[in-house]
Amino acid sequence: MTRYLDVHDLRQLLRARGVPRMLREMRACIEEDFLRWESFQMSARVAHPSAAGVIELMPVSDAQRYAFKYVNGHPGNPRVQLPTVMAFGVLAEVATGYPLLLSELTVTTALRTAATSVLAARALARPGVRTLALIGNGAQSEFQALAFMEGLGIRELRVFDTDPRATGKLVANLAPWVRSGELRIQGAGSVQEAVQGAGIVTTATADKRRAAVLDATWVAPGTHLNAVGGDCPGKTELPPALVARSKVFVEYEPQTRVEGELQQMPADFPATPLWQVLAGRAAGRDGAQQITLFDSVGFALEDFSALRYLHALALDAGVGRDIDLVPALDDPKDLFGPALGRGAEPAPPVAQGMEAMA
Ligand code: NAD
Repeated sequence: MTRYLDVHDLRQLLRARGVPRMLREMRACIEEDFLRWESFQMSARVAHPSAAGVIELMPVSDAQRYAFKYVNGHPGNPRVQLPTVMAFGVLAEVATGYPLLLSELTVTTALRTAATSVLAARALARPGVRTLALIGNGAQSEFQALAFMEGLGIRELRVFDTDPRATGKLVANLAPWVRSGELRIQGAGSVQEAVQGAGIVTTATADKRRAAVLDATWVAPGTHLNAVGGDCPGKTELPPALVARSKVFVEYEPQTRVEGELQQMPADFPATPLWQVLAGRAAGRDGAQQITLFDSVGFALEDFSALRYLHALALDAGVGRDIDLVPALDDPKDLFGPALGRGAEPAPPVAQGMEAMA
């Protein structure tokens, strides 16, 4: 049987465990998998762009398990009451190909993106940073805020969105953490105001074009940039001058070169794989004054980690239900009978069947 997790099941897990704990546990799984990077078969995602957005498939596997995610990116979706990003995914057994888990991944994508952002920032940001500027206060933003609070000790958020309702929604959703004294939130009147004095800047804006939400001159030396929103060809958030001033870190380089901020740079512009920094094989930040840029586009391995985490959690907590995604067959060569619901009927004798044909 295949375990099925829908949005209600995920809500149950989030409520029982709490968002910060799930972010921490997911980050641990992602880190574990990044540290065994070379044991995976991987490829850049397969993208089908259109005038309205993009639909993508993201596969990856190791010797035991295979995973894929279906995900879209449609910046105009909020106008028709749909999220910009929607996703679901499958975890399967490599030995047989049997699907072990079919899961919602819309909320989970926000969790794993935020967890990966923090994994990168823990390795690359200056130690002791307590202030995060959050540019773009849409669906991803609260997850980013809580991940940085939990994983990096961020206490102050400076927030800005071109849509003030998005910022209002973020402030309302994060109110419990403000009341408990874990977070302070300061609304900014502009991007420039938001980034002033912030040691880390997250950009999570959605616009299907080459945008420049920041001016290179607004970013102070030593800042860590976590650029989440530029994640497909033709869609970027940072001006090339700012990328040029930064040391750039990537998930899977062949994918980031065409989808990330790097798409604006010459093909030989240097980029360091994050996994190599985590594994101690490459240097991270070279000095306190350097600007570091995590050019996040979202990689299949992060979804693999999230799916294996959710699968273990669901089995352990008894959450979700088992479904017949694949027929259970008494005779694996007889698909036809059970497909028509005739599995229980006795099969006609062969000779009789042959006579009927004659
Ligand atoms: P969303 O539509 O819910 O929110 C985006 C917000 O950005 C909106 O509130 C919009 O008003 C705001 N915005 C647009 N232009 C702006 C600007 N110039 N300055 C300030 N705010 C601006 O989208 P979301 O689900 O939060 O996703 C945000 C972006 O992150 C999307 O582009 C999405 O594709 C991307 N994303 C990346 C990853 C990854 O792994 N890197 C994962 C998920 C989503």
